Amino acid sequence: QGVVAIVGRANVGKSTIFNRIVGERVSIVEDIPGVTRDRIYANASWLTRDFRLIDTGGIELEDASFTEQIKMQAEIAIEEADVILFVVNGREGITREDAFVARMLQKSKKPIVLAVNKIDDQVYKDNIYDFYNLGVGDPIAVSGSHGIGIGDILDQIIHLMPESEDHREEDEIRFSIIGRPNVGKSSLTNALLGEERVIVSDIEGTTRDAIDTAFEKDGQKYRVIDTAGMRKKGKVYENIEKYSILRALSAVEKSDVVLVVIDGERGVVEQDKHVAGNAHEAGRGVILVVNKWDLVQKDGKTMQKMEKELREQFKYLDYAPIVFTSAKEKKRIDLLFPLIQEVYANNRKRVTTSVLNDVLIDAQAMNPTTTFNGGRLKIYYVNQVSVCPPTFVLFTNDPMYLHFSYKRYLENRLREAFGFEGTPIHIIARKRD
Ligand code: GDP
Repeated sequence: QGVVAIVGRANVGKSTIFNRIVGERVSIVEDIPGVTRDRIYANASWLTRDFRLIDTGGIELEDASFTEQIKMQAEIAIEEADVILFVVNGREGITREDAFVARMLQKSKKPIVLAVNKIDDQVYKDNIYDFYNLGVGDPIAVSGSHGIGIGDILDQIIHLMPESEDHREEDEIRFSIIGRPNVGKSSLTNALLGEERVIVSDIEGTTRDAIDTAFEKDGQKYRVIDTAGMRKKGKVYENIEKYSILRALSAVEKSDVVLVVIDGERGVVEQDKHVAGNAHEAGRGVILVVNKWDLVQKDGKTMQKMEKELREQFKYLDYAPIVFTSAKEKKRIDLLFPLIQEVYANNRKRVTTSVLNDVLIDAQAMNPTTTFNGGRLKIYYVNQVSVCPPTFVLFTNDPMYLHFSYKRYLENRLREAFGFEGTPIHIIARKRD
């Protein structure tokens, strides 16, 4: 999946254009408290191509001059994107900052789409020729607020988007390790990669310069997806929370299984919930890793207490197994591999339709539906329509009558019957025609 980053100085209309491109397509499956909804990142599509869109304008550097700010945003765009959407203001002409960004983008050699915004009126139409002077290609006249020219920039984006070179190896399990800074992600990665494992290759992303590491362990191929802060430590923008969230989201997107790391000594903090919420929403397999367990003063009940706290703080992740590790002392690291395999398998599990419907019949017999929203739900049959995550469609008399607690009950029944440990499952009710 390609990445498009929007860059341009303040108030040129980046977020308006972002919203135009994304439209109403950002579907929020479930509403999870604590998950930030600043829209600086979304999935979008145009003419059968899907891509990810980033609005770098939403990533801010505190106490920075306009120049420092835009420099950081342009660097992020260059690092993350396959195609850069450079937005300028057609009513103001080229500014010093526009020229500065243009030079940076030119040097990067990334494909650029130049959108000259705020051309809402024919009067301004001739202004766009001025922008040839930026030396980054043909300017396209747009109006974010009127939705004019958006199709043209999208056509150009798709045209410039490199073909996906993501040839995925058969049977390779991709996972990422995410969590707030300092919880031990890098240490855990190193512990997992330990010398005894053959590192097959360091694969350089062909367009982006992300480095993911492929390796083999006990005959199973894995790839650990690079996340923020694991590489190139020390860049200014690396510590910006929104940037690390962005990198984490992008890693989650590419993973089959996500290891959400929590600092066992500090316990759960607010930021952990955002991180975990994002993994859950993406529909990937999730494992909760409580690291730095060596630093915790323990008695016989400490682990149970921590488990209880995690279950309370991450209610929606009740399916995720919990592992207590010490990356530093290399304790319980090897437990993670079989768990990753299991969660991976569960996330792509397909169950037989007949058994599935037997489970449904039993579930209804044991706990019949009651009246809700003025009617009583009848479920005729159920189908598994997809995997990653397993998704089930209930064919009913009217989805309106499905109470969320009954949906929850059915989910639990399916989990008991088929063992979906570590993976979210989706249940959708439809009306049978
Ligand atoms: P990251 O920012 O999440 O990648 O965290 P790092 O892997 O860089 O670790 C942050 C700090 O915590 C370093 O000083 C590590 O040595 C330390 N650390 C990581 N894992 C453990 C652990 O399991 N136990 C202890 N005691 N320290 C750890």
